Amino acid sequence: MTQATRMLIGGELVESESGEWIEAINPATEEAIGKFPAGNERDVAKAVAAAEQAWPEWNGIGVAARANALRDFGKAILARADELLEVEVRDTGNTIVPMRGDVKHGVDSINYYAGLAYELKGESIPATPNNLHFTVREPYGVVARIVPFNHPVMFATARTAGALMAGNAVIVKPPETASLSALILSEIAREALPPGVFNIVTGTGAGVGAPLVKHPQVKRIAFIGSVGTGMAIQRMAAETGVKNVTLELGGKNPMIVFPDVDPQAIIASAVAGMNFSWQGQSCGSTSRLLLHESLYDEVVAGLVDRIEAIRVGDPMDEASQMGAINSKGQYDKVLNYIEVAKAQGAKLLAGGHRPVGAGFEKGFWVRPTLFGDVTQDMRIANEEVFGPILSVMKWSTFEQALDIANAVDLGLTASIWTNDIDNALGAARRVQAGYVWINSVGPHYPAMNYGGFKNSGTGREEGLEEMLSYTEQKVLNIALRK
Ligand code: NAD
Repeated sequence: MTQATRMLIGGELVESESGEWIEAINPATEEAIGKFPAGNERDVAKAVAAAEQAWPEWNGIGVAARANALRDFGKAILARADELLEVEVRDTGNTIVPMRGDVKHGVDSINYYAGLAYELKGESIPATPNNLHFTVREPYGVVARIVPFNHPVMFATARTAGALMAGNAVIVKPPETASLSALILSEIAREALPPGVFNIVTGTGAGVGAPLVKHPQVKRIAFIGSVGTGMAIQRMAAETGVKNVTLELGGKNPMIVFPDVDPQAIIASAVAGMNFSWQGQSCGSTSRLLLHESLYDEVVAGLVDRIEAIRVGDPMDEASQMGAINSKGQYDKVLNYIEVAKAQGAKLLAGGHRPVGAGFEKGFWVRPTLFGDVTQDMRIANEEVFGPILSVMKWSTFEQALDIANAVDLGLTASIWTNDIDNALGAARRVQAGYVWINSVGPHYPAMNYGGFKNSGTGREEGLEEMLSYTEQKVLNIALRK
């Protein structure tokens, strides 16, 4: 149970204006493990006012001083990494071993953006001989960062560092089914950063997220979450102003396997690409395995064995390979997709049910699930589940593989497996996705822009472009009189 209970507004640890709370539920046990303030539009207004007051001075201290402050923030986060990790694992249901990387990744990203301080530069352009033409970058001022439930502390740190480095003050809205780590982060940021530069307002999407998006002084909104919420945010933002909105949304990502690869390598990689260690709840999961027909039987047989062997269990147990689904709502959604897939004729090959036995009496558990004979007309082939369900589809020609890969509304990641350079590069160029792996799957690489085509989003994060997206360009033209 975390002792931290308050959010951070204007450098003060505060309860909500309403005095109301939301219980934090451990998805592995359904027990309450803490509580956090149920913020509302009054808390949002306070946070925006605090950020508005803080950013000019934060911007005014200059890039080197901001970079130093951010590095100190990173050190302070690392000093409480174990505590953050434990709370995060209990609150999300994700397994502990890979989650160790989340806090580290957040701090690495803070240091990366601190290192890019001097890239906040403009250009000089020889537009005319009688003038000096150049550009400078200025921060938006107040930035809203809305975070999903799968990696809350990582997104609240890694994905605010660019905005802070660029001279903005941020307001973080954590996910209401995993907000506890944000309360610890509130304590850390209060000590490490000037008041009002980093604010956290907890609560629901309707209670905090929507008022934040609609606040006229919030001109820059950065969102990671579902397509439906992303579309709602674009609409809501436009109600009160012309705003810069970036969206990192869902995926229904293809892993395209050509006939010339080792089937055993594919079995291992298809499982890795599903991110079962956080129950498949990853935007980048390759949840559609597109197998050439010649490999289908061997790969599917191997997948059944491997998926049935996955150890589902207590997320805090180092031996667990998969934990609990994050919330009751998400659990119901996953079970519903399993029923829909069966009803539409997909062949259930593994999982598809709750695990049985001691430890699983309560909690939002689902065995990792494999469906074969999936066809394009099925919902499971088109819609993001954001859960532990892998769908396998069969193809016979290159064109058919690309048609299947590109048949969905989403386009976040894609993974292509072949030793043939024409197939590899031909498929990579034609697949409609923002992040493509060839002969690998899963990792995000430092400084490489991440983001989606189609309904998977707009904007790019994780690289230089993310930091620059938190600035506006100003053009200066100086007449040369001598
Ligand atoms: P969600 O859209 O339900 O919620 C995300 C956040 O938005 C939460 O903090 C929520 O409270 C807030 N929110 C909800 N309604 C809102 C509203 N009307 N106005 C403002 N904010 C609102 O998403 P989720 O279920 O938490 O996360 C899962 C989704 O996130 C999946 O679709 C997944 O693919 C996506 N995701 C994308 C990336 C990426 O980088 N592309 C990374 C992780 C997750």
